[in-house]
Order: sequence, then structure tokens, then C-alpha cells
Amino acid sequence: MMNMLTSWFEHPRLRGGVHAEEHKLDTANKPINLGLPLPKRLYIPVQQHVGKAAEPLVKVGDQVLKGQILAYSQGNISAPVHASSSGKIADVLDYPAPHPSALPIRTIVIETDGLDTWQSLHVPDDPFVLTAEEICLRVGAAGVVGLGGAVFPSAVKLDLGRRNQIHTLLINGGECEPYLTCDDRMMQERAEQIVTGIRLMLQGMDAGKAIIGIEDNKPQAYQAMREASAGFDFITVSQVPTRYPMGWDRQMLRYLTGWEIPADGRATDIGVVIHNVSTAYAVYEAVVLGRPLISRVVTVAGSAVANPQNVEVLIGTLLQDLLKFCEFDEQKLSRLVMGGPMMGDALPRRDVPLVKATNGVLALSAQDLPENSVQPCIRCSSCVSACPVGLLPLEMASRIKVNQLEAAVDIGLKDCINCGSCSYVCPSHIPLVQYFKYAAGELFKRQQMEHKSEQTRRLMNDKNERLEKIRLEAEEEARRMAEARAARAREQAAKESVTTQQEGA
Ligand code: SF4
Ligand code: SF4
Repeated sequence: MMNMLTSWFEHPRLRGGVHAEEHKLDTANKPINLGLPLPKRLYIPVQQHVGKAAEPLVKVGDQVLKGQILAYSQGNISAPVHASSSGKIADVLDYPAPHPSALPIRTIVIETDGLDTWQSLHVPDDPFVLTAEEICLRVGAAGVVGLGGAVFPSAVKLDLGRRNQIHTLLINGGECEPYLTCDDRMMQERAEQIVTGIRLMLQGMDAGKAIIGIEDNKPQAYQAMREASAGFDFITVSQVPTRYPMGWDRQMLRYLTGWEIPADGRATDIGVVIHNVSTAYAVYEAVVLGRPLISRVVTVAGSAVANPQNVEVLIGTLLQDLLKFCEFDEQKLSRLVMGGPMMGDALPRRDVPLVKATNGVLALSAQDLPENSVQPCIRCSSCVSACPVGLLPLEMASRIKVNQLEAAVDIGLKDCINCGSCSYVCPSHIPLVQYFKYAAGELFKRQQMEHKSEQTRRLMNDKNERLEKIRLEAEEEARRMAEARAARAREQAAKESVTTQQEGA
């Protein structure tokens, strides 16, 4: 309780959260490394975003140029994918995804030619004369998605913004996950381009102002962004306290403005759109330089790499190539994580590609992962104080333990953002967030099964209705034929009767 009260007195708008060990110094002060050698093969999945997978339009043997579209977006929520380098399409196959399940997904493999030749790019003379719609179209065509981890297609978000009368664009420079510093370095080194991207996003939504929130453990980034936005009085750069999960959009918005996004609603419901700093940079590249999203900056860290750093990596590069570049020691590896240690995914293999969502690759050793044995709950309520959503983690976990998933849903399971703050503070080392992830997975499976049986039920009903219709039509036809036969028989009988009468006369 003390923890919650201290936090509330310090920052009355903050809810929950923890002071997680940062582990950022190893990478935060090194420039972004642009020297990763071009891989011989790039593995580019067609599903790297929220929404429908893109549809491949290349075939094995095709020659492609860097930046060329490989797969078209499908439906309203989707994003295209592009060639990260020039070369030949070596395969279009189902290949393991960078996901804990490692389930295969459709992937286009490019055998690079070493020339890295760009296709011709469509660069506008002055991007600031483009209409809002033109900006959205360019961002969509470039396959830009939310690079803070959400990977929601950015053009769809801008378009939503345009249709929802947005007054504020919030740019999230929180980067609160331990180890990760890619956004920090982006702000330090590419602040002007990020600010240009922000101005274009405002233009793409017809919105009036932007607020950039940066945790106060990134003073150089804060300074660089302030300098880059000087002269644009519609952009405010603000520092926010370093407290995980400050990078959670709702927490940052609440802290900076006091505005609350409705529990079941979206930021657009209150006139706000939220994007990440790296997304703003991708928008700059898409609109000003005409370049699609084919690379991103990734933090590689953890004690199993001797040279932790931020690296600009082509989408489709295998994690094993990136790790090797950072002097990876296989003997030391205990856990490979994509993303941060709090919300990232543990990966079972290293031969999976880096995708648009990958902001970090952590090669963690035993030294990074202290073994703590799980003890019984002492009902200290630290997990409750730490929860930024205001949930009761202990109560949810005890229901999940006895498989009462619906009961856990009743007390807020679906609002859990899996931030792991509760697990982090638990003195009994109870892996609370693992319970929530498990339960969410189970509920999803059940929902899928219900959806399937509902579909089967609907198909059966349709089939029965069709059969019934055929039966009724056949009956009707038989009735009509019987009537026609009877009519013909009556006619024949009448004719015969007339003939008999004539003969008798
Ligand atoms: S689950 Fe852990 S943090 Fe929560 S009340 Fe029990 S011991 Fe305390
Ligand atoms: S993981 Fe869920 S329950 Fe735990 S602190 Fe985060 S939001 Fe709350």
C-alpha cells in the first residue's frame, strides 16, 4: 500500500507501475550501428501487422528491387510488405514465425544479389502541400505500422483520425521497458526527421497539436526533440517520470493531460491519436523520401552478447545473423526474448526473421534471470498497488488456478495489458502474468472453437433448409404432375364419353 501511496503523492495522475531495473546504459550511449552486413537471404513474412495478411504477388524466380512491393494489403485493416533488398525470389513458403509457438506463416524469401539496388522512388517536391488523404495513401502504400509494438497499420489510424475530428496527436517516447533504447537513440540521432514525421501526421489527420512524452531517464533525447521542435509552437515536448509502464498509451495520456480513454473505447473517442516516435520516423521516410518500411532500429542486449547496441536491421534478417553481429555467446544463453523482458515473447529458436514489430532482441543469460522459487502468497497486496489498470491480480490468478476463467473475466481479466508489474513486485515470486497470458490464450482458443461450432451449426442449418426447400419443390412438382395427369385422364374420359354417346345416337 505504501508503494501506491508514495507514487500517488509524487504523481497524482499515475496509477500503479514499478521502478524496474533499467539495464539501458550498455546501449543508450552508443550510436546506432548501420554496419550490419547484408544477409544472403531475407525471410519476409506477409503477416507483420494487425489485420489481414498481405497477399503475395511475386513468384519464385522473380527479380526484385529494394523497396519493391512483394505482397498487397487485403481488406480494410492490413499493410503491404516490401523487398528489403534487391535480389531473386528464392521461395514462397510456410516458415516459422518469430513467436513463442514458432508456428509457420507465409514467408517470401529473397536471395540477395549484394547490389542493394533501390527501385525508383516517388518523392514529392514539397510534402507539406500534400492533402491529408494523399499523406494517408503514401503511408499506407509504404506499409508503415505502429513500431512501438502494436503494429496497427498507421494509415488506418491516420484515416480514423481524419474522420473522428482529432485535436491532439500524442507521440509516445516513453520506452519504459528495461534494456530497450532504440527509441531513445532514434530521438537523439534523428529528432528532426521525427518532428517532420509528426508534422506530416498532423497534416494527415487535420489535427491541431502534438504532445511528445519522453521518460525523464532520456535527457539527451528530450533535449534533441526540444531543439528539433523549436519554432513549431503546436508541438510540446514533455518529460514524464520514469516508471514502468509509462509507455502504456493510457498511462502516458493520463499523466500528460489528465484525460481518460473510456474502458471499452479508443483514444479517438476523446479526440486523440497516439503514435510512437519510431513510427513518426517511418512516416517521414514514407512521405518525404518515398521509402517503404523495410528496416528498423533494434536494441540487442543481454549478457549473452558481448557487444550490446542498437542496430539498423533490414526486415527479414534472421535473428541469428543479428546476434552473431553483436558477438553472441551461445553457451551463455538462457532465454532469447523478442521485445522487452516485461512484455516480450520468449522465442524457442534463433533462425526466425526480424519483423516490423521487433524493437528488441534480448539474449539473456542465467546472470540476467535470477532463479527465485515460488512461495505461497502472503496477501501483501503489492500486486494490487502495482497494477496500472487497477485490477486485482491475486484474485484473478486464484480463479485461473482452479480453471474458473469466466470468473477471472468477471473481475477484469480482459482489461489486463500483460505488463507484468504485478509479477515483478510479488515477494513470493508468483508468476502472476503467466497465469493471465495462459488464461487469455485459453479463452481465445475457446472463442475460436465456439466460432467454429457456430459456423458448423450455421452450415448444417443452411444445408437442412436447402434440403427442405428441395423436398417441398419436389412435392409441389409431384402434386402438379398428378393434377396434370388427373386432368388429362378426365379430359380423355370426357372425350370417350362423347364418342360413346355419338355412336349410340
Ligand atoms: S500475489 Fe504476491 S504480491 Fe500479490 S498479494 Fe500475494 S504475495 Fe503479495
Ligand atoms: S499484468 Fe495485468 S494484472 Fe498484472 S499489473 Fe499488469 S495489467 Fe495489472
